[in-house]
Amino acid sequence: MDNIEQALKQYFGHDTFLPGQHEIVEQVVSRRDALILMPTGGGKSLTYQLPALLLPGLTIVVSPLIALMQDQVDRLKVNGIPASFINTSLSNTERIRRESEALNGSLKLLYVAPERVMADNFLALLDRIEKNVGISLLAVDEAHCVSEWGHDFRPEYRQLWQLRERYKHSPTLALTATATERVRDDILTQLRLRDPYIHIASFNRPNLYYEVRQKNQNTYAELVQLLREQPEASSIVYCTTRKGVDELCECLCRDGIRALPYHAGLTNEQRTEHQRRFIRDEVPVLVATVAFGMGISKPDIRSVIHYDLPKSLEGYYQESGRAGRDGLPAQCILFFGHGDRVKVEYLIGQKQDVNEQYIALEQLRHMLAYGDSQTCRRRRLLSYFGETLNVENCGNCDICLRPMALEDRTIDAQKFLSCVARTQQRFGMRYIVDVLRGANTQRIRDMGHNQLSTYGIGKDRSVDEWQYLGRTLLQQELLYESTDGYHILKLNALSHEVLRKQRKVFISVPVVATPAHQAKTSQQVLDPASQRLFQHLRSLRRVLADEQGVPPYVVFSEATLRTMAQLRPQTRTQFARIPGVGDCKLEAYFKPFTDEIRLYCQAHNLSMGLEPSLVGREQERDAVLASLVGPAPSSRMVTLGLYRAGRDIEAIARERGLNLRTIIGHLVELIESGESIDIERIVLPDRQKIICNALQMLGGDMLKPVKEFLGEEYSYEEIRLVRALTRQAQ
Ligand code: ADP
Ligand code: ZN
Repeated sequence: MDNIEQALKQYFGHDTFLPGQHEIVEQVVSRRDALILMPTGGGKSLTYQLPALLLPGLTIVVSPLIALMQDQVDRLKVNGIPASFINTSLSNTERIRRESEALNGSLKLLYVAPERVMADNFLALLDRIEKNVGISLLAVDEAHCVSEWGHDFRPEYRQLWQLRERYKHSPTLALTATATERVRDDILTQLRLRDPYIHIASFNRPNLYYEVRQKNQNTYAELVQLLREQPEASSIVYCTTRKGVDELCECLCRDGIRALPYHAGLTNEQRTEHQRRFIRDEVPVLVATVAFGMGISKPDIRSVIHYDLPKSLEGYYQESGRAGRDGLPAQCILFFGHGDRVKVEYLIGQKQDVNEQYIALEQLRHMLAYGDSQTCRRRRLLSYFGETLNVENCGNCDICLRPMALEDRTIDAQKFLSCVARTQQRFGMRYIVDVLRGANTQRIRDMGHNQLSTYGIGKDRSVDEWQYLGRTLLQQELLYESTDGYHILKLNALSHEVLRKQRKVFISVPVVATPAHQAKTSQQVLDPASQRLFQHLRSLRRVLADEQGVPPYVVFSEATLRTMAQLRPQTRTQFARIPGVGDCKLEAYFKPFTDEIRLYCQAHNLSMGLEPSLVGREQERDAVLASLVGPAPSSRMVTLGLYRAGRDIEAIARERGLNLRTIIGHLVELIESGESIDIERIVLPDRQKIICNALQMLGGDMLKPVKEFLGEEYSYEEIRLVRALTRQAQ
């Protein structure tokens, strides 16, 4: 194992690199400039964080959003990496404290906003840092902000090249998830990167399942069904308007789905609060306009559902791309309806500027083509970014997964081939399809092809259907394409057999009668016992995160929890082997998680400390056991039942083989989801009042200060219960 790999496990707990990461880190550590284009979830952050640890000195990270900085720093800190940020949210004293940390070498990464980094006094600070400890690396995150062609141009980014000049020996690393070539070129020139190493990843996100559903009177019911299928999973539902958001959110809540709204019409405080509760897994569903999402790095969003039509395919890619950042399966579902299209067209018609109108219509056209597509969604999306998918069937979109049947399409094939013949085998697919469909274009008129007998004989089928047929003919070698770059369609001996009715043509087409394909989605299947243990570990994660005032995913990713639920580690060696457990998390979390696992496994007679190779067999045994017992009610509801039956919480914990903390966690979640629960049995009214006052004074966002204020007498559990109650009352 080399240095770099060792550091990867030690600091971040990962055993292997994601594609591209290793090469990038090597280049940056050898002090070469680099430009990184990777889709969301590609693992960009690690490509500057690891070099920051390996190189001597301090790494400066330019990042445009306060929320993002906070999130990154939280994640680094739980891994024991000294990092900090400086932005306008800090008091003067705090800022000075952090600056001196940067100067005395006790930090490895410092995040700053672009407008601050170019200010004179900050440059002076950087000079001193350079002299004292050295600047190891300049990382420019969201580098597309440098380009007017990108979606959020920030003029300050245009100044950043000066840093590149000023600290000549420090390499500069630019990172973005924007795919277009124009933006890429802009970044290279504007930041004046020197002989950069350029890494362009595929923008394909194989873990995302894409589906388009027709929007009709059943749409709301379908949405409810989708959200109920995975009740605890984080989902975003996008609507176009604020009013749409509010109405939909209200309906969902009435139907028992815990959801919060997010749009520009709410106050700043409301928006921050709703976002926070979503990120901390306190509420699973966020109904939002596109105002939500920029700067959200929640990795475990399992569904992004568009209830209304997005305005552009690029927008759709970015929004839907917020799902499944952690690489686990997630679904992107678009409800697609004619009414929406008319609305968008109307709005575009209102635009004064003709050029803007043109651009908007172009964008809409691509969006509609995606929705109408009879071919792979993924192929469509990627081709929009100039990328070709190199398999015919992506295996993870509604089109590729729908049941197919072989159908005799000899007549259509004859029409197609005869059209190729009559146009003298001098044209490509697109043109042939236009002629078949009787398109009224200048080129066809100039060629006189509107006079052909095949002109317009294929009106009854869509462009996509004809192209699909054409591609199938190519695949079956009943036709071929010139290789001179022009893709001219040519007939061969087999084509003539088809034309002479000596050969039939079968193609596979979707079976229309069956109901829409059910998303294969979501979770990789865990056996039922591991699945339940996973839910407990998830609750424990929330409790621990809450105490530290960080989002749950900062503690461990879902992938890590899933592996834990399967392998059920008990020794330190076993625990350290779980992907996502680095040195620092091993120290911090070994005890609570292994305790929880032991209690649960003992109470349910499950084996622990499994070898990865044995998991399959163990799961089979557990699955058989579970099938004898039948489906389990949700764990919280079991707790609720026992609590309402008058059992005290210690007894419930004993009986269920769970931590006391987990039981309290259940009660908190129940209160937050609107159950009315009498907590006086746990926290006496006097104590409730005192806790309540402390929460009011210090704010409830972070529990630690409240706990410190109240002292030993009061437990985190009590504070969490009271906080849940006060929130319910709001
Ligand atoms: P991006 O900024 O490109 O969207 P992130 O840096 O946020 O991506 O990483 C996406 C997710 O992948 C994060 O949850 C991160 O912890 C995880 N990740 C990054 N590198 C690795 C790796 N080598 N192995 C496993 N998971 C990784
Ligand atoms: Zn597909």
